[in-house]
Amino acid sequence: MVIPAVMPSYARADIAFERGEGAWLYATDGRRFLDFASGIAVTALGHNHPHLVRTLTEQAGKLWHCSNLFHIPDQERLAERLVADSFADTVFFANSGAEATEGGMKLIRRYHDATGNPDRYRIVAFEGSFHGRTLAGISAGANKAHQAGFGPLVDAFDHVAFGNLNEVRDAIGPETAAILVEPVQGEGGIRPADPAFLRGLREACDEYGLLLFFDEVQTGAGRTGRPFAYEWSGIAPDVMALAKGLGGGFPVAAVLATEKAAQGIGPGSHGSTFGGNPLAMAVANAVLDVMLEDGFLANVRVQGEALQRRVGALVAAAPKVADAVRGLGLLVGIHCVAPAGEAVAALRAEGLLTVPAADNVVRLLPPLVIGEAELDAACGMIESAFAKLSS
Ligand SMILES: *Cc1c(COP(=O)(O)O)cnc(C)c1O
Repeated sequence: MVIPAVMPSYARADIAFERGEGAWLYATDGRRFLDFASGIAVTALGHNHPHLVRTLTEQAGKLWHCSNLFHIPDQERLAERLVADSFADTVFFANSGAEATEGGMKLIRRYHDATGNPDRYRIVAFEGSFHGRTLAGISAGANKAHQAGFGPLVDAFDHVAFGNLNEVRDAIGPETAAILVEPVQGEGGIRPADPAFLRGLREACDEYGLLLFFDEVQTGAGRTGRPFAYEWSGIAPDVMALAKGLGGGFPVAAVLATEKAAQGIGPGSHGSTFGGNPLAMAVANAVLDVMLEDGFLANVRVQGEALQRRVGALVAAAPKVADAVRGLGLLVGIHCVAPAGEAVAALRAEGLLTVPAADNVVRLLPPLVIGEAELDAACGMIESAFAKLSS
């Protein structure tokens, strides 16, 4: 057999980790890395956070799983907390970002069906977007590499340029059901939407009777310095997908919706075996315990501004390597001139883990608990990697 036992769908760096502590990861070969990847914006509280470890181990000794055939008190508690802290009235729990995004799409179809418009099923989505790897997800995302060889795609998406309201309005027709947008495109290269553009989407949705669907799988759960990134825009969506940071490393996702948007959902209409199980719910509640503490999100905003400012200065001093820094909170992208993959490798050689994105961008996604010491260490590594790449 030449195929590896693990199906070869990833290009992996030659490192394996055995333990983590806060923002640091320790490899099996003894090397130590500063983790500004966070498992791709997932380990929001860093590694081995005592409150998460305690909660998970306590719950592990009580009950792991029982299915949604029964009440799950921690699920009700988490839903109530998410509702209290957001635009939403109701929450469905899933296990991954792709499932949450797809769940939102299904809810949108059900809404139009329930309100007498079953012919409305198409969704306006954006070039450069990413919505997960299910068939509907790769059809909604506009990444040709993700779609190649997987056709026929789900024919339900109309793609327009990110940020162009005229194109959005032109794409709306009698079959349009919703607009799907990431408030900051993550995989697409950390491209923040102009708040005025997001407000324009809200207006278009209200004018044409569409639902506004925010994919906050990467931007939600505190990453941008607010509980959810939509809060920066002054408007709210009707539907929102959450995942990545919500479980701090435990797989958990959620579809949030207003009562109006969720009116088509009743018993039997949608489901998940694992979604919202007691183990996931205990951990996600514990993540919220920490994230909603006074000062937590303020620290994300402070560290995010400092990171962008300091990396901006390093970029200005290394014009052969990079030419711009952009982002929101601790969702930060360095737009590279040199190949971003080479920059990621050079940073890793200095001991800093980052994530490449489209548009030749290096993503900096530190845990949300970093302070000045981690920022100093990261900036030192970036400076020295940039110096080597410049020479
Ligand atoms: C990561 C991501 C997804 C997919 O999440 P999975 O958990 O990998 O399925 C969907 N949308 C956005 C915006 C993401 O960043």
